[in-house]
Amino acid sequence: VEATLVLVKPDGVRRNLTGEVLARIERKGYTVTGLKMVNADRALLEKHYEEHIEKPFFGALCDFMESGPIVAVRVEGNRVVEGFRSLAGETNPTAARPGTIRGDFGRDWGTVAIENIVHGSDSSLSAERELGIWFAE
Ligand code: ATP
Repeated sequence: VEATLVLVKPDGVRRNLTGEVLARIERKGYTVTGLKMVNADRALLEKHYEEHIEKPFFGALCDFMESGPIVAVRVEGNRVVEGFRSLAGETNPTAARPGTIRGDFGRDWGTVAIENIVHGSDSSLSAERELGIWFAE
């Protein structure tokens, strides 16, 4: 079966949405097979977001992701990568459809980094790479 990496980002943890995110994953029928709280440092984030290192928002994104604990979750199920991205909704929480995690709980807070509650791997290959980073022995 496929696995994906879900992160409850610092805004989600601060707003006590960890349980809500886990409940939606479980009610959808996916299985949580790993769970940990992590204080990410810059080195971890540079590995996780390697495709974004040159982007103008990279510094602000790292500051945001270092602003508090993150809950990292390993989730399993057939087509879970696509399925969780559908549960999460689109990146911009103002535009994300109601019914999605970002659409129901997110909005524009006027911050430089887009605060959107969750991360989900964007492909099975990314999921394997990211799970290796966040759940390394
Ligand atoms: P994630 O990878 O976290 O699930 P995503 O795939 O929807 O999100 P990406 O394009 O991979 O979005 O961007 C990673 C994260 O960087 C976003 O979730 C958001 O927090 C932040 N981000 C993306 N684009 C911007 C932007 N233009 N300005 C500020 N922050 C951004």
